[in-house]
Amino acid sequence: MAFHFEKNEPPPWVSPEDWQSWQWQMQHSLRRLEDFAQYFDLSPEEIQGFSGLDRIFQVRTTPYYARLAAHGGRGLSQDPIRRILMPQARELELGTQQMLDPLGERKNSPHSRIVHRYPDRVLFLLTDFCSVYCRYCTRKHFTGQDQAFVRSKDYLQALEYIAQSPGVREVILSGGDPLTLSDAKLKGVMEDLRAIDHVEIIRIGSRIPVVNPMRMTNELLQTLRPYHPIFMMTHFNHPREITFEAAESLKRMVDHGFPVMNQMVLLNGVNNHPALVQALNRRLLYLRVKPYYMFQCDPSLGTDHLRTSVEESEAIQRELWGRLSGLAMSSLSLDIPDGGGKVTLVPDFEIKEHRQPGRRAYRGWDGVEAEYVNPDPSDRQEPADAHFYLKEWEQIVTSRQKMSEKA
Ligand code: SF4
Repeated sequence: MAFHFEKNEPPPWVSPEDWQSWQWQMQHSLRRLEDFAQYFDLSPEEIQGFSGLDRIFQVRTTPYYARLAAHGGRGLSQDPIRRILMPQARELELGTQQMLDPLGERKNSPHSRIVHRYPDRVLFLLTDFCSVYCRYCTRKHFTGQDQAFVRSKDYLQALEYIAQSPGVREVILSGGDPLTLSDAKLKGVMEDLRAIDHVEIIRIGSRIPVVNPMRMTNELLQTLRPYHPIFMMTHFNHPREITFEAAESLKRMVDHGFPVMNQMVLLNGVNNHPALVQALNRRLLYLRVKPYYMFQCDPSLGTDHLRTSVEESEAIQRELWGRLSGLAMSSLSLDIPDGGGKVTLVPDFEIKEHRQPGRRAYRGWDGVEAEYVNPDPSDRQEPADAHFYLKEWEQIVTSRQKMSEKA
């Protein structure tokens, strides 16, 4: 089926030229209750959410994304996209688990703008600014604090840390949203990272293609492409977010040689249904975007009303398993709170009571049962050339440990 992606048309009081300008979208972002009241008929719970802003998390969205929430939902009172961007009174309640830093990033932060949790990659937090402040954000300890682009001293220290960590093969530019920075700033960052020989992959994590897709200009992509391989990690949560404008921005990225992968978060009342996940993932795949992660929502402050239970998330993944092409499947992943790292939640198809030494029994997604019998262990053979690759593997394994010793 060829998908049709609808245009997100401007409201009557905005000219089409302004609407298509990503700078106009940034400059006219909605921040205050009065701004939102122009687009939405606010409920008492939402108005109460605004009143407690200083206790929770900044509010901001582009007019483009607000319009999508207000007018794209076919008149639904509980619009899924509205739940992502609109503050709620529920955010002020004490939930079942409330963490300011659920990923334990601060304790894995050797410098103010670096998070080094896994040996072969680091997060480089270029800015704390985003075009939208998603109510479920996991980085409320950092995001939206009006610190903007990293100060020169912190930037140089972060670069030095990466340069001194030969096991670091990937740098994930994050924040905040790195694509809110100017083309010139991004070019400078790319040049600096590409001057470090052991940095193989650069990833850019961004919600810009969702909330201000006009930002993904040919000029920006031409500025970045000399520094390939750069992976674009988008963050679409709902099929309706893939508008005509967003689809065009994804096509431009792929056409400029950027592998694009999508990370979604399973959210209560937003996308917690297998029909919605498949709709999102198949549309993304059609646009040559690989659905990568489906995250369990972290227990960040004020997110109880947005989180799904682990059981519900697993049930959704199980429903999709086998029915959806492997290309369209994302990995269901949960971050162990307090910085325990990611675990992938995979449906368990083993029939445990039939397990025997050297054999396992499975019942597949549609009920077919069979045994898998191991080969004779005496046949095991080490690859003859494994030692050629041991040095680089050792470098990765010991990278984080060496840096902790230095600190
Ligand atoms: S764009 Fe990302 S970092 Fe910014 S508020 Fe949303 S989830 Fe948080």
